[in-house]
Amino acid sequence: MHTPIKGFSKLSRDAKIEWIVNEIFDGNQSVVELLNSYLHQDAKVQKLHNEFIENTITNYYLPLGVAPNFLINDTVYTIPMAIEESSVVAAAAKAAQFWLKRGGFKTTILGTEKIGHVHFMYSGDREKLRSFFNDNRVNLINSTDDITANMRARGGGITDITLVDKTAELEDYYQLDVRFQTCDSMGANFINSCLERLAESLTNTIASDTRFSEEEKQVQIVMRILSNYTPQCLVRAEVSCPIEDLTEEEGVSPQEFAEKFYRAVRIAEIEPYRATTHNKGIFNGIDAVVIATGNDFRAVEAAGHTHASKNGKYSSLTHCSIKDNTFRFWIEIPLSVGVVGGLTSLHPMVKFSHKLLGNPSAEELMGIIAASGLAQNFAALRALVTSGIQKGHMKMHLFNILNQLEATDEEKTFFVNYFKDKVVSHSAVVRKFCEMRQIPYESMIKK
Ligand code: NAD
Repeated sequence: MHTPIKGFSKLSRDAKIEWIVNEIFDGNQSVVELLNSYLHQDAKVQKLHNEFIENTITNYYLPLGVAPNFLINDTVYTIPMAIEESSVVAAAAKAAQFWLKRGGFKTTILGTEKIGHVHFMYSGDREKLRSFFNDNRVNLINSTDDITANMRARGGGITDITLVDKTAELEDYYQLDVRFQTCDSMGANFINSCLERLAESLTNTIASDTRFSEEEKQVQIVMRILSNYTPQCLVRAEVSCPIEDLTEEEGVSPQEFAEKFYRAVRIAEIEPYRATTHNKGIFNGIDAVVIATGNDFRAVEAAGHTHASKNGKYSSLTHCSIKDNTFRFWIEIPLSVGVVGGLTSLHPMVKFSHKLLGNPSAEELMGIIAASGLAQNFAALRALVTSGIQKGHMKMHLFNILNQLEATDEEKTFFVNYFKDKVVSHSAVVRKFCEMRQIPYESMIKK
């Protein structure tokens, strides 16, 4: 335990590190060396990273991998993925390769609408508020004109605003429900700025409206904030092929494979325990691309999980059908992402990722991300209904185990060959490692 500190954010980086090292690491100077070793060699790039957040003391690395051969709407992409889980990029690449020869991924943008709310309390006459809103709806929108001018010039801006009566669920609670088009940006900051102006205009206009009593004019603005649930900012990605084009899978015929795959998806549709893991696998792919392209993975996850619960029960984000001898597998997911704003023009690796994808528009990026999620889920289900996922997963995880054991490069090469025809498990690797180095297995277990 250590004592709390006042004014930490005002300390210099060195002073922050000194405090951490003295208070938490007993003055161990190797911690300073470790933190410094993760700084970028180019001071300008490091300064950028320092300024992304508060209290930056160093950088935190994630590998950036690429999954090639993604055929999406007849264009081939090499998709950047920033992720720590061993098997994700390999699985995406494998699924991409599979569908490359079967027509690839087709994506459709079903909508790009974003939403925000002014949440407020009003205890007066309901009809008065409604007639006030109808009279002032356009004025309210116009009050944001200076904020929305550039977005309107791009073809976006505020597209609708409605008054929502929520008093049946919470006494005196109303919303201004505002709809937006934010073009190539995610739009969070733009939306929040508009909402703050709308809230101010709402209170000022009510205060100067003679139809309200002094008591009714006491509107309380509780919050002005975008919603991360964007059911109308929706993309669909799909793969399909004749059943006979599904390859023979480890002794399973294409027909059996299609049926087993279909059942696995149906189970995720009706069983929340499975749906949660199923969707986690989808987000393995989605988050990795969202992070690589500098987008907000918390926002994307939150929207995805709400969408997965839209019918009142948590369910699968992907669906499957077998009809007229055709296997079809698709995802429909809300994805609020941008190719401008946020980190997109700042982080050098994010800029690289956008270039790697050919600088897509926000809509194209929605399709690419949805296809990555679908590919990831296809790879996982394909393994699950045939050989199981551990075979592929543990093969990739082998390096993590060997690195934990501090194996040399020669030993790693030996192990990769040794496990080519064997099932990798943590204990099997440790046993073989001990046998090779002639050390007792028990000593490694304690370690
Ligand atoms: P931003 O604040 O960087 O603004 C993007 C701006 O780029 C737009 O407002 C617009 O003025 C400009 N622009 C230039 N060219 C454009 C084009 N072609 N299309 C659209 N806009 C263009 O970014 P943002 O998109 O408003 O907000 C995203 C950031 O906000 C993310 O970093 C996110 O993490 C963060 N954020 C998220 C939440 C949330 O999700 N709840 C809340 C607050 C902030």
